[in-house]
Amino acid sequence: MSLETAQQQVEKISEQIRQYNHEYYVLDQPSVPDAEYDRLMRELIAIETEFPALKSIDSPSQKVGGEALKAFTQVTHQLPMLSLDNVFSQEEWQAFVTRINDRLASSKTLAFCAEPKLDGLAVSLRYEQGVLVQAATRGDGTTGENITENIRTIKSIPLKLMGTDYPAVLEVRGEVFMPKASFEQLNERAKAKGEKVFANPRNAAAGSLRQLDSKITAQRNLAFYAYGIGYVSDEGQAWLADSHFARLNQLKTVGMPMCPEVKFLANASECEAFYQDILNKRDALSYEIDGTVLKVDDIALQQQLGFVARAPRWATAYKFPAQEEITLLEDVEFQV
Ligand code: NAD
Repeated sequence: MSLETAQQQVEKISEQIRQYNHEYYVLDQPSVPDAEYDRLMRELIAIETEFPALKSIDSPSQKVGGEALKAFTQVTHQLPMLSLDNVFSQEEWQAFVTRINDRLASSKTLAFCAEPKLDGLAVSLRYEQGVLVQAATRGDGTTGENITENIRTIKSIPLKLMGTDYPAVLEVRGEVFMPKASFEQLNERAKAKGEKVFANPRNAAAGSLRQLDSKITAQRNLAFYAYGIGYVSDEGQAWLADSHFARLNQLKTVGMPMCPEVKFLANASECEAFYQDILNKRDALSYEIDGTVLKVDDIALQQQLGFVARAPRWATAYKFPAQEEITLLEDVEFQV
């Protein structure tokens, strides 16, 4: 491909992705299946890799999510909320492991924290002296929407942490999602009333959480699982465990809900078995997932690996093969 053709392609694909991002993140109303979006993004990254001069800082490949809705007050995240890079095959997973081993210049076996990739939306919950004081969406990773009142309606999210042993300021990061049964009931009710139905549980969760009237959110049966920690006040640093899995268990101890499928795995090949196991269980789970998330467990190694523009180097989503492509015809009938 000539540089000129590559430039035209980058412009065309970027424009298309920006449009899809707006529909998905701002309007909660995607017009194409995720697999199609992922294909376009990979095409963009492939061209940018071949022609690095074409990779601009505002390329969609360098950005997280979409902008925060102006209808809500805005929250600036004290620590950014990033996205995840992803792999789609065993070869890509193995290349990811080789890459981090090379970067760490270590032959030590890497342990992982393995988690299902929940298909909802990321939120950050801020507890001060154990009390929930603020909840925000990820937004563009730097600025999110203040959705505190809506989050308070989710029954499994504690308004006060359990016990007394926690940092003065603790930000809990996790996923708000709509269980499959709640999603089906919601759409049944909408159909009965002749109203629009939601395309999938992810859009239903996003649409429900970003309601200006929290009474509507309260009726939507949303759920939450914690999967990480954001900002922690200085004195709380000593409280934090040095393993990601252990940190999730600390969150559980103070009352945060955690996905029961999360596992500590001693090496990368156990991650492949985990991926297969979760893929086999997918339909039986009460919530929607679209893959697994595999995170280097040792926090010191995470810090050594650091971040790139939009995602940590120490974690990747290992995504399942697309299901939506099969149900596309059905999906296009659906609107949020
Ligand atoms: P992502 O969903 O691929 O991965 C990052 C997100 O995963 C996090 O923000 C968090 O919300 C979530 N997550 C779930 N379980 C997690 C766990 N255990 N640990 C950590 N994070 C976990 O990234 P994204 O930037 O939110 O979205 C990109 C994806 O969204 C695309 O790959 C595509 O599938 C979809 N998308 C689709 C369209 C469309 O038009 N169809 C548009 C934009 C995005």
